[in-house]
Amino acid sequence: PDPLLSVRELRTGFPVRSAVLRRTVGRIDAVAGVSFELRAGETLGLVGESGSGKSTIARTIVGLARAASGSVVFDGTDLTAAGPAELRRRLRDVQMIFQDPYASLNPRRTVRELVTEGWRIHPDLVPRRRWTAELAELLERVGLDPAHADRYPHQFSGGQRQRIGIARALALRPRLVICDEPVSALDVSIQAQVLNLLSDLQRDLGLTYLFISHDLAVVRHVADRVAVLYLGTIVEEADRDEIFTAPAHPYTRALLSAVPRLRPWRDPGPEPVPLVGDVPSPANPPSGCRFRTRCPVAEDRCATEVPALVVRGGHPVACHLAGVPV
Ligand code: SF4
Ligand code: MG
Repeated sequence: PDPLLSVRELRTGFPVRSAVLRRTVGRIDAVAGVSFELRAGETLGLVGESGSGKSTIARTIVGLARAASGSVVFDGTDLTAAGPAELRRRLRDVQMIFQDPYASLNPRRTVRELVTEGWRIHPDLVPRRRWTAELAELLERVGLDPAHADRYPHQFSGGQRQRIGIARALALRPRLVICDEPVSALDVSIQAQVLNLLSDLQRDLGLTYLFISHDLAVVRHVADRVAVLYLGTIVEEADRDEIFTAPAHPYTRALLSAVPRLRPWRDPGPEPVPLVGDVPSPANPPSGCRFRTRCPVAEDRCATEVPALVVRGGHPVACHLAGVPV
């Protein structure tokens, strides 16, 4: 079957203005040619440090940022080329859950107002006489007490607020949910509860997730497949187990070195790779391989030849030396 979402050669950037010269002096390509697919019902984990472009990818998919080139095909329609009416209808099917439930919920609205807002905007979705019943059902589904529907966000804990954000997204009956660091602002003890809720909802409602996180331990918990981003490009993509047991890109190996192993005695994993230096500015990315300034095994050609994302040893990797033991 066709993928539910197909992102092709996506570029999204921002102009850089000089306050002194009062003109545009360059461009930052936050997303510099990214391609991936999502099949219905699966979870793709998009992993990278801050500044890797993962949030910009999410914002471009839902139309909050404009693509410079490339396509975002959702269920057969290119969202980057769609007119306003088509886009509005499509964006009901694609909902987002944000990192910070405090910032993404209007503090002056009750849970009832927050969750039913989408039904007001899309009146054909739920008839008004059904609102109370559907709201109660939805709140119960995400683990909130329907009796608390007229409370305000500040009257809930951080984990409960994220459940309000999830209910608000689900109210529109989306097919694709983009989860942008959904548990990063929560206590570790609460993270697992919210991740388990997301898994249950996926199973019960047949949802497809694009799950964005800097935290590989979280991604290991939820993703079927993982794509690793560095400075706006995907450097490696594989099934979850393969990424964690047989990472091929030096950057993926470095990220994994920092993740505690589940069972170190049974799962020794690859040799640790140190990550040196800082992430370069996306305004001025390194020539050749964008990772070369931090790569412990870089060679001369890495400065001149851009490594293509091609299958080496089982899955796509963008490294000239992938497959060569480090
Ligand atoms: Fe390192 Fe070169 Fe591979 Fe880039 S292409 S990750 S610099 S070895
Ligand atoms: Mg981000």
